[in-house]
Amino acid sequence: MRSTKIVATLGPSTDDEAKLRRTLGAGVDVVRLNFSHGRADDHRIRAEAVRRHADALGRDIGVLCDLQGPKIRVESFVAGHAELIEGASFALDTEMAPDAGTARVVGCAYQALPQDVRVGDTLLLNDGAIVLRVQAVAGSRVDTEVVVGGILGDRKGINRQGGGLSAAALTDKDRADILHAVALGADFIAVSFPREAEDMLEARRLVMQAGGRAQLIAKIERAEALQNLEAIIEASDGVMVARGDLGVEIGDAELPGWQKRIIWAARERNRMVITATQMMESMISSPIPTRAEVLDVANAVMDGTDAVMLSAETATGRFPVKVIEAVARVCIGAEASLYLRPEPIQRRPDVHFQRTDEAIAMATAWTANQMHAKAIIALTESGATALLMSRTDTRIPIYALTQHEGTRRRMSLCRGVYPIAFVPSRLDTLAPVREAVSCLEERGAVAVGDRVLITKGDFTGPGGTNAMKIVSVGEVPAEFPNVGTPPLS
Ligand code: PGA
Ligand code: MN
Repeated sequence: MRSTKIVATLGPSTDDEAKLRRTLGAGVDVVRLNFSHGRADDHRIRAEAVRRHADALGRDIGVLCDLQGPKIRVESFVAGHAELIEGASFALDTEMAPDAGTARVVGCAYQALPQDVRVGDTLLLNDGAIVLRVQAVAGSRVDTEVVVGGILGDRKGINRQGGGLSAAALTDKDRADILHAVALGADFIAVSFPREAEDMLEARRLVMQAGGRAQLIAKIERAEALQNLEAIIEASDGVMVARGDLGVEIGDAELPGWQKRIIWAARERNRMVITATQMMESMISSPIPTRAEVLDVANAVMDGTDAVMLSAETATGRFPVKVIEAVARVCIGAEASLYLRPEPIQRRPDVHFQRTDEAIAMATAWTANQMHAKAIIALTESGATALLMSRTDTRIPIYALTQHEGTRRRMSLCRGVYPIAFVPSRLDTLAPVREAVSCLEERGAVAVGDRVLITKGDFTGPGGTNAMKIVSVGEVPAEFPNVGTPPLS
């Protein structure tokens, strides 16, 4: 059983119905709809197809809508591209016609570019493939020397080494796309290039105004975001280690350390974390991963990530099914030989639990570890207790049993948590416990004699967990004196 979750980007390679079914069936937990490409309708159609297949497979698959964000780009070239030669001059001009680029100069829609750069700055184009050094800034024009040349295509991205190109995180397109994401029932919405907590709070206001329930993921892909990391995490439900843009901004040498820091900062604050970009890049055109990719995925698992993400590997690659199989296999292997830095359950010995559900969650994870329990069951409404328990070092599977489909889909991102649809027949004190244990027994997850810990609340409603129960499978009394609680109608 794999505890690390897999996020797969959908695209032309997965649009064929049979291919999509096989890709999802190979072990996708969350699909990513990339709003940098395609129309709102394309995303809606894909989301509907995923729901259909998930139902047929009897699985809960989350939908993550990834907003385009203010990616700063060059405009277009007369010829569709230009070849930049090392040592030559090349300029970016914010006043130039958007389709008139040549090998000497190209337009840029980001009007603040001349204010944001200084002589001597390094600009990285096309994910760092092309490197320019700023020679002069005058009016709307930034003159540079080509340090590393190559073919530059239309609308390729521009980053400044060290960060500092800082458009507001939510563009008008993103605001419109938040409405589209809510309308298609997104379980997660990822905000691209947030600089500070306020960017996430603003996105949350827009989601709530639109009546959405989506959880918000902050993509950490800008140097500024690292300075504000804690506050951004607090303002989000999860984060993404967005290694593509982040690596360009801070340099690849800084990336491994930050991956680990971001993962632990998120876990420590009871948030989820996705590790993204180029995890199995060579599998875009190859049926097997390189050793380096195998090690990269395994290391992210060992770093404690909730999920690993695939981008072009599944969206436009030749082998989407094989990619999922490879990632799933490598995750299971890494988990089995886990050199996971153990996070002690009492990771914050000075912490004063203010919330009952957090206290119960910590007590349950600790007790389950000490008793070598076979399973933990969270009878949950919001999923909060399951999330809290999964932030600890427990390796015991956490089954989140809930009747709420939305909760189950949100739990699909959470490492070590297995969502299961469950409606107890009655709400008296023991019926749900007995039925929950039978539910796991039927799935073969537990057998007679196994110890199981259960968290539950006396009332329905989110955040209501206030009790832990320890039972042995087969020893739950068949009947329990009815103490007067009315049956669930
Ligand atoms: P992107 O984000 O794929 O949308 O650019 C992820 C990253 O930058 O790593
Ligand atoms: Mn990015």
